[in-house]
Amino acid sequence: MPVPGRDFAQHKWPYEKPLRGLGGGPGRRRARSPEQVPLVWTDHPDRPYTTEPAKPFRWVRSRVVGGRTLHWSRASHRFSGFELQAASRDGYGDNRPLRYADLAPYYDRVDRHIGVSAYKEGFPQLPDGIFQPGMPYNCAEQIFVRAARRMGLPATHRRVAQLTRPLNGRPACHYCGACGQGCDVGATFNSVVSTLAPAEKSRKMTLRPDSIVRAVLMGPDGRARGVSYA
Ligand SMILES: Cc1cc2nc3c(=O)[nH]c(=O)nc-3n(C[C@H](O)[C@H](O)[C@H](O)COP(=O)(O)OP(=O)(O)OC[C@H]3O[C@@H](n4cnc5c(N)ncnc54)[C@H](O)[C@@H]3O)c2cc1C
Repeated sequence: MPVPGRDFAQHKWPYEKPLRGLGGGPGRRRARSPEQVPLVWTDHPDRPYTTEPAKPFRWVRSRVVGGRTLHWSRASHRFSGFELQAASRDGYGDNRPLRYADLAPYYDRVDRHIGVSAYKEGFPQLPDGIFQPGMPYNCAEQIFVRAARRMGLPATHRRVAQLTRPLNGRPACHYCGACGQGCDVGATFNSVVSTLAPAEKSRKMTLRPDSIVRAVLMGPDGRARGVSYA
């Protein structure tokens, strides 16, 4: 299991990195950069993978306890009636068999657990949640939001699973900016700090890191009854 602060070690200045901080880029190219933390971005040069000819797979994996929550972008938005009942509105497809009011209590539980910072706006297309205070807008963002609102357009900060206040022993974000490399302090939601830590304390969980499931074992009733792993 990765130990934040030891395995991510992103509190580094650009000049401390192999490519002086210029090793970014999108998707797979970024994952292959020697500047990425190999635990967090699996497609590191040391851990290549192949794909079928003419069928490139450009997404990235995270072969580590914590999975992609270690490098996800933390956007935590709610579906609204606009998506769930889109057919009634647009006339295409089928409505989902759920209304926003059915989902809201579950979204609330998740928000309280993961910690989401954002501004409450009352936009019907982007329901508000249980938010910690939103991150302050920088100068350009303030200009942008003001201009959008003058034009009658909704604009707000992305709702992010990134703390602006301490929560359950996790500190608030200190804006070091390397969130996609595994958060050193656990201010961004990831399953290592937020979910597995309390599960481990409950003593009802057995974690088997360094294990790869090779098959799901099925019972005679066609249901999964276990896994075989190496
Ligand atoms: C760059 C990026 C940005 C993203 N941004 C957002 C965002 O802003 N908002 C959002 O909602 N979502 C985002 N996502 C998606 C989100 O991260 C994933 O949907 C989510 O983490 C999936 O969780 P999971 O537990 O299903 O899978 P994963 O996080 O992929 O976890 C699967 C785990 O299983 C392990 N595993 C795989 N195969 C085996 C095996 N055979 N045996 C044992 N273990 C195995 C893997 O190592 C991994 O630890 C983003 C994803 C990426 C890659």
